[in-house]
Amino acid sequence: MPTAIDERFIELHPGSAERADRARSVFPGGVTHDVRLFEPFGVVYDRASGPHKWDVDGNRVIDYVMGHGALLFGHSHPDLVAAVQRQIERGTHASGSTELELEWAAAIQRLLPSAEKVRFTSSGTEATMMAVRVARAATGREQVLRLNGHFHGWNDSVMQGGAGLSQAMQSMMTFVDQTDTAAMARELAGGRYAAAILEPTGPHWGAIPLPAEVPTELRRLTAEHGTVLIFDEVVTGFRASRGGVQERLGIRPDLTTLAKIAAGGLPGGALAGRRDLLDQIAPNGAGDRVLHPGTFNANPLSAAAGAAALTAVGETDAVEYAAAQARRLTQGFNDILIRAEIPGAAFADASMVHLVLGSELPRPDDGFTWDWDQLGGPRSKLPDTPAAIMWPFRRAMLNHGVDLMGTGALVSCVHGDAEISATLDAFEAALADLRRGEIL
Ligand code: PLP
Repeated sequence: MPTAIDERFIELHPGSAERADRARSVFPGGVTHDVRLFEPFGVVYDRASGPHKWDVDGNRVIDYVMGHGALLFGHSHPDLVAAVQRQIERGTHASGSTELELEWAAAIQRLLPSAEKVRFTSSGTEATMMAVRVARAATGREQVLRLNGHFHGWNDSVMQGGAGLSQAMQSMMTFVDQTDTAAMARELAGGRYAAAILEPTGPHWGAIPLPAEVPTELRRLTAEHGTVLIFDEVVTGFRASRGGVQERLGIRPDLTTLAKIAAGGLPGGALAGRRDLLDQIAPNGAGDRVLHPGTFNANPLSAAAGAAALTAVGETDAVEYAAAQARRLTQGFNDILIRAEIPGAAFADASMVHLVLGSELPRPDDGFTWDWDQLGGPRSKLPDTPAAIMWPFRRAMLNHGVDLMGTGALVSCVHGDAEISATLDAFEAALADLRRGEIL
C-alpha cells in the first residue's frame, strides 16, 4: 500500500518516473552508481547551481549529497567554472605533461605536509588501489589490515563483499573492529602486513566516529612493525580541516589517498606521501618498479579545477564556514527531535553531518559532537536508522525539497543561513509526515 509520502513523491516526479523506466532498460538496476538506487524510482536531475539542483520536473532541492562530497564550493562555483572553461578552450588532453599538474601538486603540498611526492589518478578507487600496490612493493608483504565498515572504493585490493571478487585478494585482508587496538597490535606484531588503511574519522566519513586515540595508536604500531600507514582522506581531505584529519590530529601517515574536493569536483584523485614510497613508481633501471599508466591521470580539466579549489581552500575560510553551517544544521536537527520527542540524534564532524532516527541514543553533549564515554557499550557500534524509517524519510525530505546523503549531509560553503533554515523546516515537515504515516 503506498503511503501518503509515496503518493506525494510520485505526484511530484512524473518526468523522473518516465526516465527511470527508460533507464531500467539500459542500466543494471536503472542507475549508474549503487548509492543512486532508490524506490520507487530515483529522481532525475537536470541542472544544479550553488546549494541547489533542479530535477526534470522543475522541482528545486537543496543538495546535501554535493557530488558525493566533492563539492565543497557548491555546484558550478563561478571561479571553478572559469578555471575549467579557460582550460577546455586550451585543450582537454595534452598527451603529455602540463604546467597545470605542477600547480595542482603544489596546492596539495601546501595543504598536506606529508605529501612529499604526489601521483595523480582518475578516482579515489584508483588512489587506494595504487596505495596498496606501493605498500606491497615497499614491504614485500601481501596482507592488508582493514577496519570493519571503513570504505575505500571498489577495487579488489580493498573492497569487501559482493560477487565477482577474487577470493585470493579477499584472503589478503584482515578486518578488526575500529576501536580494538589490542587486535591491531596482535595482528601487526606478526610482521605480515604491507599496509593498514583507514578512514581516519570512522566509516563512511565518521558515521561511527573514531576516537582520535585509534589513528594515533595505529601510527605507533605501524611504525614499530614496518607496515605502511594509509590515511584514506578521499572524503575528509580538505574538509575535516584545511589539511585533512592528519593536520587536526598531528599525525603524519606514510601515504594519503585523495579525490573529490582534491579534484575540484571533477573526476580525479591522487596518492600522496613519503618520497621513498612514491619513488617506487619512478624508473630505477632495474625493471622492477611499480607501473602506473592511465589515460586520464592529471587530466588538464581536473588539474585546473583541483588547483583552483585547493588554492581557495588555503586562502579562504570555506572549510571553516561549511563546518559552522553543519553545526547549525546539527543543532537544529537535535532541537527538532527533542521538541517532537522522536528518538534519535544528529552529530557532526566538521562539515560532515550524521543523523540517526528511530533509535534511542544519547544526544551529543554540546549539541553536535560525541564524547565517547556518553555512548557506553561497545565503542565500535552505534544504532543505524532502520531501513523502514530511512527510505520514507528520504522520500519525505525530497518531497519537501531536500536531498540527503543517506541520512547524512555533506555541507558546503554555499549552504547559507537561508538554506539551513529551509532544511530545518523541511525536516520538521518530513517528521510530521512520518508521524502521520505511523512510520515514526
Ligand atoms: N575512499 C573513501 C573514503 C570514499 O568515500 C570513496 C568514495 O566515496 C572512495 C575511497 C572511492 O573514491 P571514488 O568514488 O572516487 O572511486
